[in-house]
Amino acid sequence: MELFDEGLHSGVNLALNVEKVIYREKTDLQDLVIFENNQFGRVMSLDGAVQTTENDEFIYHEMFVHVPLLAHGKVRRVLVIGGGDGGAARQLMKHKNVMVTLVDIDRTVIELSKKYMPSISGGAFDDPRLELVIADGCKFVKESDARWDVIIIDSTDPHGPGEVLYTEEFYRDCKSCLSEGGIIITQNGVPFVQESELRESYDRLGRLFKDVTFYLAAIPSYVGGVMAYGWATDETGHRRADLARLAQRYIDAEIETDYYTPEVHQAAFALPLHIQKMLTREL
Ligand code: SAM
Repeated sequence: MELFDEGLHSGVNLALNVEKVIYREKTDLQDLVIFENNQFGRVMSLDGAVQTTENDEFIYHEMFVHVPLLAHGKVRRVLVIGGGDGGAARQLMKHKNVMVTLVDIDRTVIELSKKYMPSISGGAFDDPRLELVIADGCKFVKESDARWDVIIIDSTDPHGPGEVLYTEEFYRDCKSCLSEGGIIITQNGVPFVQESELRESYDRLGRLFKDVTFYLAAIPSYVGGVMAYGWATDETGHRRADLARLAQRYIDAEIETDYYTPEVHQAAFALPLHIQKMLTREL
């Protein structure tokens, strides 16, 4: 049996049985593999790191999308940077009045995800409310004069083409693309094994926004414990939306979820002490 061995974090490896390789290609940007695993279903990896799996992607994408949209309450336009597997786009399409611009650097990821893992995008790329742009997200926000209510940075980890999506310059350019009260959400890794990424994003976003924190979800295929989503906005009221208001918005949105609930939304922002300490301790 072939093993997929993800050595993303020093000293820690995630080994997954490869029941069958579905597709493997070194695109001109990234090394892409899609394979079958009996626990996770089909798995997509880029440059040796698990990106998404059929069986647990709902957790990652529901929390990426429904937390900012239901916290904000009046989202009409969303920008997704990365997200080429289409999972965030599928969750966004559940919100009837939302228009989406998705900017991914690698068309191959989108094409292969649609072909070999269609349940993840669920047809979102063919929805007329979604505008697809193939470009470097960093360049896109620098040159755009459009405005979005939420910007979701669904990037690979800060290596290879994804590295630019963790810089203060990129965050500043994203801020200039936010409408009044807009929210930025980042894929910010697994704090237990990526403490420096967490702290760097916290410090960089903290120099640009009034309300910066993280919320958590455990994604089984991301090794090392809970993963963190970065949250940044100048509208401090978004995080004060109480349970009754979140619950009403959830009902009004008429969206089907398998992980997200308004209670989980609120609880996700409760950071355990060791993660709080990561944000403030002397480096
Ligand atoms: N859930 C995954 C994770 O946590 O690592 C991310 C999934 S998604 C497949 C990551 C996407 O980021 C890929 O489609 C990749 O092509 C895209 N990407 C990487 N660097 C980029 C850049 N500079 N601009 C736009 N998209 C980029």
